[in-house]
Amino acid sequence: MGTLTGRVAFVTGAGSGIGRACAIGLAAEGAMVFVTDIDAPGGRETVAQIEAAGGLATFRGQDVTEEDRWAELVQRVMDLYGRLDILVNNAGIGTSGLITDVTLEQWLHQMNVNVTSCFLGIKHALPAMRSPRPDGHVGGSIINISSVAGLGGSAGMSAYCASKGAVRLMTKAVAMECAAMRDGIRCNSVHPGIIDTPIWQKLDTSGALVSAVTPGANALDVDVIGAGAPVGHAGKPEDIAAGVVFLASDASRYMTGSELVIDGGWTAH
Ligand code: NAD
Repeated sequence: MGTLTGRVAFVTGAGSGIGRACAIGLAAEGAMVFVTDIDAPGGRETVAQIEAAGGLATFRGQDVTEEDRWAELVQRVMDLYGRLDILVNNAGIGTSGLITDVTLEQWLHQMNVNVTSCFLGIKHALPAMRSPRPDGHVGGSIINISSVAGLGGSAGMSAYCASKGAVRLMTKAVAMECAAMRDGIRCNSVHPGIIDTPIWQKLDTSGALVSAVTPGANALDVDVIGAGAPVGHAGKPEDIAAGVVFLASDASRYMTGSELVIDGGWTAH
């Protein structure tokens, strides 16, 4: 028996990187994982990897900025499994650029994908998490993937930092609300440092900005940036998944409104 046997988890952006590692980690502990992403091949590959390891998962396409889809998918989880125990709000994108160059369209898209997504996920998951379960389990665990960029500022990352700072404080406000309602639902944020995932190839930035932010670098190379962490290298998606599995499990039952920083020491100095 795993620490999450019988639990049902919903993981967004689970077709790649940290989200995939979280889905695999939760399934390895016995959770049934509802994998969603706008990237259908990536999401199906995650499910295939979970099933190959003997776990349970299913994929549904989802753009996390669309409220109707959130409502539909949470209802689908309840129809299929009759419960929702864990929500990992992981889907995210990174916009970089000097604040004077960022367009309003880029800013709003950054906020929609990284912040509005968490609001919608929490709004629609909470009623499902508050429904009675056949095994008497009460409560739930909401885990929002923020960033070290939600703890401190970085040149050229104003839109991204603003989005991750918002996720950090939304997490604490939701934690307070659930605690006040005594509903047993916990809400925590995770703050990864530099993690080796495809997000670094997807950042929209200019060469001039990159060389200003990372001297000597002519691209946003995760190995170069990761070498700046006190431990000397970037982290792996599994390093974040380990923290997410802990926050999902009853081992973290007294944690809510917390910030779990997993960053190779990035923010320690
Ligand atoms: P990634 O690009 O590998 O994965 C992100 C996933 O989100 C992708 O599968 C993508 O298709 C999906 N996604 C993007 N927009 C979406 C949308 N509108 N609807 C649904 N899915 C969408 O990146 P990652 O590094 O695994 O990032 C996961 C989370 O971790 C993000 O929130 C990111 O900001 C955060 N994070 C990453 C790092 C890092 O160094 N990699 C550091 C701190 C925080």
